[in-house]
Amino acid sequence: MPARRRKKGYGRKPDDTIKIAKQHIESLLEQAKEVAAENTALANRYVTLARKVAMKFRIRLPPEQKRLFCPHCYRFMLPGKNLRVRVHEHRVIYYCLDCKKFWRKPLGKALPKDLLLHRHNRARTDS
Ligand SMILES: [Zn+2]
Repeated sequence: MPARRRKKGYGRKPDDTIKIAKQHIESLLEQAKEVAAENTALANRYVTLARKVAMKFRIRLPPEQKRLFCPHCYRFMLPGKNLRVRVHEHRVIYYCLDCKKFWRKPLGKALPKDLLLHRHNRARTDS
C-alpha cells in the first residue's frame, strides 16, 4: 500500500531529493566523459538525461558541468573533435562544429593551462 501520497506538483522538493538528483547528474556527466571518445551518441544521451534531471529538480548546473556540452544543441563537446576553442581579444571563443554556433567567454582566472598560454602570447600583441 502506498503509505504516503504526495501531491506537491512542481514546488519545493526536499533537500535530500535535490542532493540525490545532483549526484545523479554528476554521475551521468562522468559517464558521458568516459564514453565520449568512442561513442558520441551515447555521450549525448547522457547529457540529455542529465539536463532533464536538472530541469525537473530545477538544479542549476555548475560551470564545470555546463561547459561539457554545447549551450545551443546540447551535444557533448570534445575539444578538437566537435568543438573549436580559440582565444581572441581576451575572450575565449567556443565554436560548436555540430550546430555551427559559437559563444564567447571573457578570460577570467579559472582557466585551463593551455588557454593561459595563449593568453600570454596574445597579451603582448594587443597592447
Ligand atoms: Zn552545438
